[in-house]
Amino acid sequence: MSTERVLFVDHTGQIGGAELILLDVVEGRRQSSVFLFEPGPLSEALASRHLNLIASKWGRGVTQFRRDSSVLSALPLAGRLAAIVVEIARASRAHDVVYANSQKAFVLSAIANVFVKRPLIWHLHDIISADHFGAAQRRAQVLLANACASRVIVPSQAAAAAFVAAGGRRDLVEIVPNGLAIEPDPSSPGELRQRFGLPPGPLVGVFSRLAPWKGQHVLIEALAALPGVNCIVAGDALFGEQDYAAELSQLVAKLGLDDRVRFLGHRSDVPKLMKAVDVMVHPSIDPEPFGRTLVEAMLAGVPVVATDAGAAPDILEGGKAGTLVPPADAPALAGAIAAVLAKPEQLTRQLEYATGRARAHYSLERMLHSIGLLIAKAQAGAAA
Ligand code: UDP
Repeated sequence: MSTERVLFVDHTGQIGGAELILLDVVEGRRQSSVFLFEPGPLSEALASRHLNLIASKWGRGVTQFRRDSSVLSALPLAGRLAAIVVEIARASRAHDVVYANSQKAFVLSAIANVFVKRPLIWHLHDIISADHFGAAQRRAQVLLANACASRVIVPSQAAAAAFVAAGGRRDLVEIVPNGLAIEPDPSSPGELRQRFGLPPGPLVGVFSRLAPWKGQHVLIEALAALPGVNCIVAGDALFGEQDYAAELSQLVAKLGLDDRVRFLGHRSDVPKLMKAVDVMVHPSIDPEPFGRTLVEAMLAGVPVVATDAGAAPDILEGGKAGTLVPPADAPALAGAIAAVLAKPEQLTRQLEYATGRARAHYSLERMLHSIGLLIAKAQAGAAA
């Protein structure tokens, strides 16, 4: 059991990829606390982890401030943001290390750090680029990181390069790939399809929250060129992207795909569901800092077709462990899916290679070991 008293800070109560990692990182850290801006499924999931949960009085709705918003549009929120800073500063006093698990959590924790000095680790789960953040936000983030962070943990070379290109200090960066521990379901894909009531025949799936940059619309457009292929879309609009969810349904109707595309909403059984499909598609149109679903598919032995951007080419080793296609290119995506569906037997070696690679490079054990060392070092540095 870890003895450091860590204050983990996250802005959201929803469970996205970053929060799934947080749930793993806090395991066994009973001397630690998690400060959340707002309640949600994450607070419920944390309740069973036996650590101290601190709920902000002022954080509800702050997540509606979008990443690409201008700094001016944040002004009405300024009073509440200041109140959260005070809450984080107060909570920091009883802890040795502060660990910010999101961009918003980091910015406020960095300001709190001016008042209550503690080693501050930023687990940066994003790509700091113009695709994801406005210019002022990018500048503010790297300035604060350079001045206040003792370490910036990123999940990939792509995320590290973006941080440095935005002006972040290279010496702060530590690459720790996301790690997953998934025991593959022993059932066959056919059994799983029956269990989930999924149709027979060619079936592809996408398993991400619904957001324009996650590119579900590109997959739906590609399906129009793939007659007879069915598709499941797992995931919900977690961070205020409900309009996009509605647009996806409209697109399906417009392309006449209602009987081939099934929206499943947010699922807590993705690895099982994933094993039931013939192809796992990762259609993000902007660079991804990591892409847990890629590793989930590799572990499940499911062929992957992913866009060639961000961390995907690294995780898939330039196409050795999956197929890469250009982003936002529906015809190319359709072609790649058709090729995989046409000759599944030719992929046996690629799939074995992918599973071995996922186990070797993206294990939970490895991630927790690296993060544990960084936390211990941060604490030791402060105590020295
Ligand atoms: N996921 C889930 N339920 C869903 C859709 C996705 O639990 O309905 C999981 C998915 O299995 C993956 C994570 O959410 O583990 C998404 O992580 P990723 O790195 O792909 O994207 P992020 O949300 O961090 O941008």
